[in-house]
Amino acid sequence: MSEKILVIGANGQIGTELVTALRARYGAEQVIASDINQPTTALREHGPYEYANVLEKESLLHVFKEHAPTQVYLLAAILSATGEQKPKLAWDLNMNGLIHVLDLAVEFKTAKVFWPSSIAVFGPHSPRIDTPQYCVMDPNTVYGFSKLAGERWCEYYHAKYGLDVRSIRYPGLISWKAAPGGGTTDYAVHIFHEAVKDGRYESFLTADTRLPMMYMDDAIRATLTLMDAPAERISIRSSYNLGGISFTPAELADAIRTEMPEFEISYADRDPRQAIADSWPQSIDDSYAQKDWDWQLRYDLQRMTAEMLKNLKNTLVL
Ligand code: NAD
Repeated sequence: MSEKILVIGANGQIGTELVTALRARYGAEQVIASDINQPTTALREHGPYEYANVLEKESLLHVFKEHAPTQVYLLAAILSATGEQKPKLAWDLNMNGLIHVLDLAVEFKTAKVFWPSSIAVFGPHSPRIDTPQYCVMDPNTVYGFSKLAGERWCEYYHAKYGLDVRSIRYPGLISWKAAPGGGTTDYAVHIFHEAVKDGRYESFLTADTRLPMMYMDDAIRATLTLMDAPAERISIRSSYNLGGISFTPAELADAIRTEMPEFEISYADRDPRQAIADSWPQSIDDSYAQKDWDWQLRYDLQRMTAEMLKNLKNTLVL
């Protein structure tokens, strides 16, 4: 069967790279990028683009009718730090946007849906080291509990309507092609831009704040691997833990210094994002992803650091 793939929220940090990867694999015309914002030149020129607002079911309905997608990737969301500034909007977008898409996927018999969750589903009473798939979850950010509720909805639509919905709890994602969208782990992207531009960076998280992160190439590969897996191997319909690499700002600065010995880091006075980071896991146990769909990480801290610096040196206009 020929695939028609709809990516909603395509202009963001993940969408920019996921659309490119999907178009390389399925052909540009088969992958429809959509967002509420104007597309980047690359998204517009290299394949179909549609305006769609996940909060307006009519606008989504139009795109489903027009393209009858066989796969939908829903990426539109408000992330952790922005969500604390706009809690009601974050809840509305992260929850109702998801339910609109799940309903249309059932109505239009979409074969597969991907929706990302986050390590933000864990909270202060979850085990913080090697956080297991199943444990106490008491997220205290709107973003975190919207993702936890979203996971419950995904599992429910699978159980109740047989919808083939799949999900990953991404750690903080590190990439150079598009800017991050207002999360607590954004420092680990900003640091590379400032290292290349200025040779120094002021971190909004403390030196010893350890968080799970992942290079975007690994995250995209994980997403496509999960979507390719035979349905009978998917034992989790809420969302899979994905571990990545765990490091602190001080360790990341050390890794940058192996490439740029003159790089300097300093630390800001307490930032509101610190409290969010302190409630999140330091490392994640992703043994279910390894067992169910053979997940293996490729980028460690040093390899990711070298790739980020090399690519940003080539692309940043200084
Ligand atoms: P992002 O903020 O960079 O992009 C989100 C996109 O959604 C933007 O292009 C925005 O214009 C679009 N959007 C906003 N409101 C919309 C609406 N009403 N209708 C349609 N589109 C709308 O986010 P991202 O980093 O690409 O994240 C994508 C998904 O992955 C989100 O669900 C996020 O929670 C999840 N996630 C991301 C990370 C990360 O580190 N980037 C980590 C964990 C989970």
